[in-house]
Amino acid sequence: MTVAYRRTHNEMPADVEEVEQAEEEGIRFSFLTVPVEVVGENGHVRGLKCLRAELVKREGSDRMSPRPVEGSDFIMDVDAVIVAIGQRVDVDCMTDGLCDLKWTRRTTFDVNMVSMETSEPGVFAGGDAVTGPATVVEAIGAGKRAAEAIDRYLSGMPQPKMPPVPVRRRRVEQLTVPATTKMALKRPEMPLLNLDRRRVTFQQVELGYSENQVREEARRCLRCDVCMRCGKCVEVCRDKMGVDALQLGYLDFDHPVATDFRHTEDVCILCGACATNCPNDAMRIADVDGERILSLCGTILNRQKLQYCRECGAVLGPAKYLDFVRNRTRNMTRLTGDRDLCEKGARQKEAAKLQTEGAVPGGPGTQPTRR
Ligand SMILES: Cc1cc2nc3c(=O)[nH]c(=O)nc-3n(C[C@H](O)[C@H](O)[C@H](O)COP(=O)(O)OP(=O)(O)OC[C@H]3O[C@@H](n4cnc5c(N)ncnc54)[C@H](O)[C@@H]3O)c2cc1C
Ligand code: SF4
Ligand code: SF4
Repeated sequence: MTVAYRRTHNEMPADVEEVEQAEEEGIRFSFLTVPVEVVGENGHVRGLKCLRAELVKREGSDRMSPRPVEGSDFIMDVDAVIVAIGQRVDVDCMTDGLCDLKWTRRTTFDVNMVSMETSEPGVFAGGDAVTGPATVVEAIGAGKRAAEAIDRYLSGMPQPKMPPVPVRRRRVEQLTVPATTKMALKRPEMPLLNLDRRRVTFQQVELGYSENQVREEARRCLRCDVCMRCGKCVEVCRDKMGVDALQLGYLDFDHPVATDFRHTEDVCILCGACATNCPNDAMRIADVDGERILSLCGTILNRQKLQYCRECGAVLGPAKYLDFVRNRTRNMTRLTGDRDLCEKGARQKEAAKLQTEGAVPGGPGTQPTRR
């Protein structure tokens, strides 16, 4: 079988895999080929007259257009021709008894998109005949809306004016995945029916993933239902904290960078500013089993050991965070100079020291502390 196509491989409106799989199955492609006439003999198809084409730029269009080359005609030997050059609604067969049907400018059914009812009362439409070429899932959705509306129509109930508001039924828990694993996971290859059967049957070709492959796929998920890609976390870390630990190009449209979840571990001080400013609980920071852990939709961006106050055992934070605070407040207070003490512990130590020295707090020899 040969596919005659007016443009080249690059302009084909098909998924790359689809074209590759067709080639594997022995389909040939004749590019820059414009069919102009079916040649018949004794009532049978004998050939397809075609012209060669060249691509030219047309004003107002980004897509290169094919221009037939004069005198380049040739006959392709064929015994059957399948015409597949787009689709349209056959209006003529719909007019009989359906005079009130209205059509859009693209000659598709003009329907109320909530109920899928046409301008002819009691007649409903959905799918490609309404949207133009679309997808199976859109056609199924339209069918579902139409079925509900038909039920209301037959029960004498009024049709809703607005589409139903989507309701979240439940929130799927986030899967915990280390940043390195997240970066290493690749989309698994789809197992296919063997080539011999693909050529001669109409059996399903893509056989589906194994359970393990499905689980691996789930671990690649970026959870766009949780992280709404507002970019606040990146902004806060870079502009407010001055740390710039989040290299997440897929949610930072103004500063396109390659996403690298592993980058955060090297730079992040685990201050939690990103998590505090995240409007949707996508960025989380938590102290678990002696560690402070920062995660984005389950992807562990950073985890570091916690330090505790040596006086009272209170959590101080990870060493990197304490160093950051100490550097920032070096000239402001003496208390933060001691990394092993919380503020309360530092005050207790200071008071004990003053008592030992016999000094009065606030008197000569002591320094005021600032909070
Ligand atoms: C080559 C190709 C590849 C595609 N690949 C994909 C894909 O990978 N994924 C995807 O989601 N979508 C794909 N689509 C789109 C998808 O097939 C359509 O969006 C979907 O089938 C539309 O469903 P529908 O019920 O509206 O129309 P159709 O599936 O076209 O069904 C319309 C039915 O109505 C019948 N009919 C027509 N006129 C009359 C009449 N007068 N009386 C009675 N019956 C009539 C037709 O015979 C047909 O059975 C592809 C489409 C094409 C052409
Ligand atoms: S993690 Fe939160 S703050 Fe960051 S982009 Fe997602 S929703 Fe916005
Ligand atoms: S916790 Fe880390 S990533 Fe978040 S704002 Fe602080 S330094 Fe940046």
